[in-house]
Amino acid sequence: MPRPLVATIDISALQHNLRIAKSHAPDAKIWAVVKANAYGHGLERAIRGFAEADGLALIEPENALRLRELGWQKPILLLEGIFDAADLETVMLAKLDFAVHCTEQIAWLERAAQSGPLDVHLKMNSGMNRLGFKSDVYRTAYQRLRTIPAVRKITLMTHFANADDPLNPGLPLLQQVQQFEQGVAGLPDERSIANSAADLMHPELKSDWVRPGIMLYGASPGATSAEQFGLRPAMTLRSKIIGIQRIEAGEAIGYGSRFVAAGPMLIGAVACGYADGYPRHAPNGTPVLVDGVRTGTVGRVSMDMFSVDLTNVPGAGIGSAVTLWGEGLPIDEVAHAAGTIGYELMCALAARVKVVEL
Ligand SMILES: *Cc1c(COP(=O)(O)O)cnc(C)c1O
Repeated sequence: MPRPLVATIDISALQHNLRIAKSHAPDAKIWAVVKANAYGHGLERAIRGFAEADGLALIEPENALRLRELGWQKPILLLEGIFDAADLETVMLAKLDFAVHCTEQIAWLERAAQSGPLDVHLKMNSGMNRLGFKSDVYRTAYQRLRTIPAVRKITLMTHFANADDPLNPGLPLLQQVQQFEQGVAGLPDERSIANSAADLMHPELKSDWVRPGIMLYGASPGATSAEQFGLRPAMTLRSKIIGIQRIEAGEAIGYGSRFVAAGPMLIGAVACGYADGYPRHAPNGTPVLVDGVRTGTVGRVSMDMFSVDLTNVPGAGIGSAVTLWGEGLPIDEVAHAAGTIGYELMCALAARVKVVEL
């Protein structure tokens, strides 16, 4: 008798969303980003959902090897590159592309002598100040890579902080684009710049490769809803009501008694808690569907359960169907209510949650 909490992954939605990504950048090749276990959706399902992508990109070397074991033969890109000189053997054996973002990584390649071929993605720090070479030293790094016999292909890469909010005064998108253009001026190699937000919102930014992540899973990278972009949710998290309480004015719900009823209420306990990936910081009123009716959470989310207001859900009782997010309730709305983003919710789906495919 399994718990009623189930995440359904819709492979056809992954395929559909990949086509949307492609439609926004018809001339570009696509790295489908599958880091963090394909944003919680599972690598095996990602392989099927993104079979038409030109490559898969991720962070975790061990998962890159797993993709090879699962039969993915097209390119695989390590977005943060290698973490140690010893990783070079792995990238050669598994034929992985990898980012190069610091001089230490270049030194590791120089020591690797003549072996190869290596396809590297030289990352520019165009203003985000996490990884990469600043614009003024980018060309030096490029030339140094070019003198390494093992290096075959160099792709020119950067990452945007605010493609979903291009006028952000902290770092306007245009400023990053200009930094990038300056740093790569005259270099003949392919460019790889666009995440989901740039792919969906900035067709003017020409890139040989786009790197969509979140949109492929049917969530939005910014304020515009996923539905407005024509995206379909790939993950739907559903559970059931497993307990019912009738309470009177003045009675409280859950740990810390954060919610106190103002009048008589019907309360349902949902089999889903923070140990499943539901955000513990979700406030009262975070949206939930019960039997298709939109209602909200009440009281603190506990490890295995949280409570919902059923007062206005006709006929609700033990066994009523609950949707936490996905089909009928965009993950971005739940995330927004909980002060986070859809990315975090889907990535946090816990290992104990049963996953089924549609
Ligand atoms: C995660 C990531 C992406 C994808 O970003 P989304 O906002 O999910 O589309 C693209 N490029 C790099 C380098 C990343 O780390």
